[in-house]
Order: sequence, then structure tokens, then C-alpha cells
Amino acid sequence: EFISAAELASLMNVSVNEVIAACMRMGIFASINQRLDAETIQIVALEFNYEVEFISAEEEVNFDMAEEVDAEEDLQTRAPIVTIMGHVDHGKTSLLDYIRRAKVASGEAGGITQHIGAYSVKIKEGPNKGKSITFLDTPGHEAFTAMRARGAKITDVVIIVISADDSVMPQTREAINHAQNAGVPIVFALNKIDKPNANPDKIREDLAKENILVESWGGKFQEQEVSAKSGIGVDDLLDKVLLEAELLELKANPNRNAVGTVIEASLDKGKGYVSTILVETGTLKVGDIVLAGQYFGRVRAMINDLGTRIKEAGPSIPVQILGLPGAPQAGDKFNVMESEREAREIANKREQLNREMSIRAKKHITLDEIGRRKAIGTFKELNIIIKGDVDGSVEALADSLLKLSTDEVQVNIIHKGVGQISESDVTLASAADAIVVGFQVRPSNNARKIAENEQIEIRLYSIIYDAINEIKDAMEGLLAPKE
Ligand code: GDP
Repeated sequence: EFISAAELASLMNVSVNEVIAACMRMGIFASINQRLDAETIQIVALEFNYEVEFISAEEEVNFDMAEEVDAEEDLQTRAPIVTIMGHVDHGKTSLLDYIRRAKVASGEAGGITQHIGAYSVKIKEGPNKGKSITFLDTPGHEAFTAMRARGAKITDVVIIVISADDSVMPQTREAINHAQNAGVPIVFALNKIDKPNANPDKIREDLAKENILVESWGGKFQEQEVSAKSGIGVDDLLDKVLLEAELLELKANPNRNAVGTVIEASLDKGKGYVSTILVETGTLKVGDIVLAGQYFGRVRAMINDLGTRIKEAGPSIPVQILGLPGAPQAGDKFNVMESEREAREIANKREQLNREMSIRAKKHITLDEIGRRKAIGTFKELNIIIKGDVDGSVEALADSLLKLSTDEVQVNIIHKGVGQISESDVTLASAADAIVVGFQVRPSNNARKIAENEQIEIRLYSIIYDAINEIKDAMEGLLAPKE
């Protein structure tokens, strides 16, 4: 049920009696404030020569927030936002810490940095002097992909750290796939170069085997040898990040109401709810009415990554804000609103939407869904993640599935690997609208739970032939629906 007879009448600019009379002709005795179902609305509207388009509440909320596009002359270059990813123990945290210590703390008053979820550094010397970079300081691809699954794309450049005394490892591959799938440029940091057994050329070779040719070997991927311990190469790494950023021509308009994304939010015993947000465009000011997710409130105070109270934050600047009456989720968008009334209206709608979330849970791709999407002509690509017990079968399965591509439907293997189906596989599937195929492996408990919540299809097989046939049938729309 959608709108009442009275609302429908006013939308069509006719009297409510006419709408009620039309309902009666269909055998429906509606009162003025009675809500009508979709079919009735459609038929009644048709009588008055109106065609009805049903917009989901989600679209409606987004519609409310439709942003004006900035004029070219109002745009200014903004700092890139960087996420560091890589295999465990390859030095992600060390690199984030080194950069923070070397580039933020020294020379700044106070000198003690706060963990607020992101920090911003300014280059002090060299050709890039004066330019800034913002780092998200939750390393790893989990946060990155979780945000993407929620529709937030905040990372501009990814640094993938690979330990030069090790190899390209499963999580390195995962990080590469996550970044490439999101279309975010990568700079490789070949770390621990200070170690006597460091062999960066071996890493270059490993990467070449993954079809990633680094620049010093004539490829297009920038790489830099670094030590997160001594700091060797870190300045050059930052220069390379800035070079990627330059190619992206990142711009924002600082002279407008702020729009951005929530990075993290929590309840602090002393301060109340604190949310760290990253301004994408505009300038956020103390006193602004902020709407983030389903919460809104006036910004009471803003604190930057040095723990200093500030009055304003422009594009790419991370700040912690006080004043929201709750904790929005990481990845939620925030907007500065003109009035509390407007903010409250949308916040209420979103709250209602959240309650209805389970029924609305985004419809992700499933094998059964393929036939339907093909019928309405929206099915062009099937994204698949493959996990298996041994490398040989994963490769064999990947090759066979790729060969199922037809002129109409392209099969993409967006990630493959050996091991059980992990949370990270499921979040990637959610972000990329993919199905997960397991060969002789099972999902972890957490992965299973997330897959259930997000309605991600996991198909488990123990015979390669079965997997290929079932997916082939599905692509041809021949799969019998599951009971
Ligand atoms: P993460 O799991 O990727 O965040 O890795 P960490 O930053 O925790 O680093 C793992 C280990 O490698 C720690 O013991 C670090 O001290 C060490 N480490 C990180 N970077 C370097 C480096 O450049 N040189 C050396 N010698 N050790 C490093």
C-alpha cells in the first residue's frame, strides 16, 4: 500500500471524490485517507490519463538528496584518499605509523596524533611541496570492501604493501583483485628493503606472474622499494601516489555545503557519540546541520587528527564531529542540510527504510536470478569468485567457466584462490554483485552468516563438471528454480 485516495487525488490534481468514485467503479470502497494498493493506484490513475511510476523508498531518499553538479570554475584540486592493503605482516600498520610519525607529528604543535580513522599529511619538501595526502588508517581490504558494498567509494589510490623478503601471498592477490575490481589505481610498496634477505626483484617476478608488470620492468604499475622501519623510499612512494592522483584530476568545490562519508563512529564515555567523517566536497563548519545515515544534528565541535579543535574542514580533510545523536555506519553518506525540518524528514524516512531493510535487502545475483534478468535484458555480465582446495582445480574451474562467455553474457572471474570461503570473499561478492563458487571447500561460519544476511549465493561443488554444467544451464536460462 502506497498513498491514500486524497494524496492520489492531489497528485493528479483532481478532487478526492472523483478518485473515490473511480475506486467504487472497481468495487473498492475507499475512504479519503485509505491507502490504496499498487494495482488500484495504477488503474485509477489510468482513468485520469496518468501513468504511474513506482519509485522505491530508497530511490526516493536518494532523490531527495540529489546533488547539484558543481560548475567547472568552482572546482579546486583536492588531496587523494589512500588505503593501504596487503598480506598480513607485510608491514601495512608499520607503514601507516611511519608516515604518520614522520609527516604529521614532527613540527606540528603538540605532536601527538589521535587515532580518528584517518589522517592527513602534507609534503614538506621536493616538487610536491605543499600537497597533501589523506590516509585511511584502518589497513586491509576488509574495511575498503565493506564500504564499497555499502555504495561508498572513497579511496582514490591503493598502496599494496608486499614484503620483499617474502612473496606475493594470498591476501596480496586478494588486495589486487579488490582494488582492480573497484577500478582504483595501485602503487606497490616493496617493503622491508632494509632486511639483508630482501629480494625486490623476486616480488617483481611474482607480480609479473599475476599479469602485473611494474614500471621499472616496462609495465604500467608504479612500484617503490621502501622500508617502513627506516623510512627509506617513503618520500618517493608518496610522490608516486601523488602522480597517480594527478592523473585522476581529483577536484572538489570547497565553497558549498559539505558532502562526505562516515569513516567510523562510536560512543565515547566523555564526549558522547563521535563520528569521523571525510569531507568529499564542500566545507563543513561548526554549527552546520548534518544528516548522516538515519541521524541528524548540529555539529557541536570538530576535532582533527592532531586532537586540535577546528572550526572548518574542507575537501579530503578527516574530522571527528560531535553532535550526532547516534552512531551512523561506516560508509554512510553525510550531507549538510539547510533546515532541521528537511533533515528530520529524510532521517525518518531512512529509519523506516532500515526497519524494512530485511525485505528490501538488495537483490544480489543468484543462478536462479539469471534467467529473470536475461528476460528483462539487464544481464550482461556474470561475476564469479572461485575458492577451491587445490590450485590445480581452481585454475581448471576458472578456465572452464571463462569459456562459458557468450556474445551476450561475459563471465568474469573477479577473484580466485585456495582455501575456505572467507568473509572477505563474501563482502567482495556483495560489492561486485558476484556469486561464490566453492570447490571441495566450505564457507567459514562468519562468511555463511554474512552471505545469508546479504543474500549472496554460495554454490558448493565436489565435481568440476557439475559446477560447469549448472552455471552453463543457468546462463542459458535453463536452470530449474530451487524449491
Ligand atoms: P601488517 O600485518 O601488514 O600491518 O604488518 P606490521 O606493520 O604489523 O608488520 C609486521 C612485522 O614486520 C612487524 O614486526 C614489523 O616491525 C615488521 N616490519 C614492518 N615493516 C618493516 C620494515 O620495513 N623493515 C623491517 N626490518 N621490519 C618491518
